[in-house]
Amino acid sequence: MQPLPLLQAEAESQDESRGLSRDAGPGHSWPRPTQPSDRGRRLPKWLKKPLPRGNEGFYTHRLLRALRLETVCENSRCPNLPECYSRRTATFMILGNICTRPCGFCAVARGRPLPVEADEPARLAEAVRRLGLRHVVITSVTRDDLPDGGAEHFYRCILAVRQATQATVEVLTPDFLGNWRAVERVVEAAPDVYNHNVETVPRLYRRVRGRADYQRSLQLLAYVKARAPQIVTKSGLMLGLGETREELLEVLADLRQHGCDCLTLGQYLAPSDHHLPVVRYVPPEEFAELGDIAKRMGFVHVASGPFVRSSYHAEEMVPGRHAP
Ligand code: SF4
Repeated sequence: MQPLPLLQAEAESQDESRGLSRDAGPGHSWPRPTQPSDRGRRLPKWLKKPLPRGNEGFYTHRLLRALRLETVCENSRCPNLPECYSRRTATFMILGNICTRPCGFCAVARGRPLPVEADEPARLAEAVRRLGLRHVVITSVTRDDLPDGGAEHFYRCILAVRQATQATVEVLTPDFLGNWRAVERVVEAAPDVYNHNVETVPRLYRRVRGRADYQRSLQLLAYVKARAPQIVTKSGLMLGLGETREELLEVLADLRQHGCDCLTLGQYLAPSDHHLPVVRYVPPEEFAELGDIAKRMGFVHVASGPFVRSSYHAEEMVPGRHAP
């Protein structure tokens, strides 16, 4: 498959609709994420990140446009986008770019999603092949409008990547509304890593995660581990939404009790003034301390830091893989 690249003007128009800018300053021509809103407060110095040098990120950006693929990097306005794109990596977001849930932290558009594109698995596999990825992370918008929540599409995407490349596969799925048959279908494709984020502590669920259910998310992780113990299970939380330390440690204990192997902890950043505000900027030293505590609790791999996202350097959590 050799899809035609988009015209420059067309690509730039799509960038604008995503809140991306090509005017990244001298020497930078890749898109950059919209700066997180700090609601008039100054960001602490540890949250200021220099743009990487060179134009490597533009290759990734153009390839994704040409193959008409969505990434959570762009749709969630991830602050790591310039770094990850310049390393020719991205987290693919399948099943469209419109979500059916109204989560207060998330920048992805919500509304009525478009039909599922049957050729998306092939386009995704092609991107993984052309980027030369050794590890691919596949996530999706939440598709509560579909009977299986999009599980069959996840299944097809995993198989397509497997057939076209040697890459290990990580999925980051929604909760499928507790439809265990849907979870089972994803497990049948045997991803190397199954990630499902609890995102925050249960007291904040109503404000942060809308229709999600904390116990359901824990049960999903336990289901995957019981069904396929060889699959690495993983979850993550955003800090700074108003959780207490005690609440956070209780969640970590719950995750371990439900067979969660790997953990990510990162700073929540409000994508805009219309999203939940940041309650606290957690200092790097506190992230490091929490990471140490989590390791002592038995997590096999922990990534904890202000810029950690569930897919940030995800390859390093695959058994036998280390930083390149
Ligand atoms: S951390 Fe994840 S979501 Fe953010 S830019 Fe990197 S790959 Fe994309």
